[in-house]
Amino acid sequence: MKQDSPIFEPQQWQLTGQQTELCALARQLGQSKFSERATEYDRNASFPTENFKDLHQSGLLGVCIPKDNGGHGADLKTYMLMASEIGRYCGATALTFNMHVSSCLWTGPLADGLTLDDDLRSRLQQGRKIHYQRIIEDGAIYAQPFSEGGAAAAGKAAFGTQAIRTEGGWLVSGKKIFASLSGHADYYGALCTELADANDKPSRRNTMYVAIPANADGVRVEGEWDPLGMRGTVSRTLIFDEVFVTEESLLMPQGVYFQAASQWPHMFMTLTPAYMGIAQAAYDFTVAYLRGEMPGTPPVKRRMFPTKQIAVAQMRIMLEQTKALWFQSISEAKPNPDKESLLRAWAAQYSVMENANEISQLAIRTCGGQAMLRSLHLERLYRDSRCGALMLPWTAELCMDMIGKGALYEKGESDEE
Ligand SMILES: Cc1cc2nc3c(=O)[nH]c(=O)nc-3n(C[C@H](O)[C@H](O)[C@H](O)COP(=O)(O)OP(=O)(O)OC[C@H]3O[C@@H](n4cnc5c(N)ncnc54)[C@H](O)[C@@H]3O)c2cc1C
Repeated sequence: MKQDSPIFEPQQWQLTGQQTELCALARQLGQSKFSERATEYDRNASFPTENFKDLHQSGLLGVCIPKDNGGHGADLKTYMLMASEIGRYCGATALTFNMHVSSCLWTGPLADGLTLDDDLRSRLQQGRKIHYQRIIEDGAIYAQPFSEGGAAAAGKAAFGTQAIRTEGGWLVSGKKIFASLSGHADYYGALCTELADANDKPSRRNTMYVAIPANADGVRVEGEWDPLGMRGTVSRTLIFDEVFVTEESLLMPQGVYFQAASQWPHMFMTLTPAYMGIAQAAYDFTVAYLRGEMPGTPPVKRRMFPTKQIAVAQMRIMLEQTKALWFQSISEAKPNPDKESLLRAWAAQYSVMENANEISQLAIRTCGGQAMLRSLHLERLYRDSRCGALMLPWTAELCMDMIGKGALYEKGESDEE
């Protein structure tokens, strides 16, 4: 089989040796294994269990775990680049992989960039060691159920899921919607609000990030999962009913998640690589199809029509714009970015999520009726790509909102007399 070219050619985009290697590994896995399995996961809305076994065996499950703890020690940018190669072959695998890797990014490279006192630093390192060991040695999979259907996932209110202090730990109760990997993860990395007792006032500052074992008493998965796209994510509803957790379950000591989320806004871009990969895949499909080289279709060339050429040019321009903006934004990711960098991150997020869908719909219009049959993967790319703009906290709408306000107002400015 002819190997696909990298989305980001290492020399042209000046990738490091590690970025080049990890992207090549992800692409090789994606092309040889994930691509073929994606149809079944999509058709059955089933979780990509086999892909996660391969990710574990290849060492990618620990991609962002620090080297001292047995991982690859990849930073945010390196992770994003390699994950985009996965998204190219199976969007649902890339998106669920993101939920898993986020538990390592928050606790690893991101937390390492925060200013913490010695006690917090040592508690963080002791705590994360437990989780990292499970991932590296046992292939444990972590989910990231944040969303609750209220304003918390958008960062505007305290999480409704509560962790009430009790003897020896906490009792966690609440409901998480759209919990990707539900029923398939080994641990649910849930965000909740710590309360001293049931009368305590919830505050975002007291957000607690806790790994709840999937088999703990009081954990259950509810509801149907039959969505338009990203069907393999199996994002059902999770219920926590007085689940007892101890200090050992903390993914970060209390207060550290709030600090990390406030200082590391680029972290919220980690939902984009899945869609960056889809944008590339829709473009690749169109070129191969119009050249009469799409496996499973007759070798009919359609590239000689000027309208096709114009459409492909339009797609290529959109893809190049998206890649360039995204690459710049993930390259400048760091704690406490300045306003220009933040505006660019929102613009990059918006562009990836909206353009992945725009490129996919242009692909369908350009390739034509035969190309949207279920026997080919373009229609899946089209459906999966529609989901990107809906992901909180940086939905396409919220990005527009933040860019508009950010561009027109400096900090502290208002129009009140
Ligand atoms: C395939 C898929 C997988 C997902 N996986 C996960 C997961 O693993 N973990 C997880 O935590 N979540 C996950 N989500 C959930 C996702 O991040 C959103 O929380 C969810 O899509 C919100 O849906 P909703 O209808 O409740 O949105 P609503 O909260 O009703 O919001 C609807 C829209 O209103 C706008 N809006 C929302 N809040 C505000 C506000 N405060 N101010 C202004 N505008 C606002 C936004 O543009 C939003 O898109 C997933 C979603 C999808 C589609």
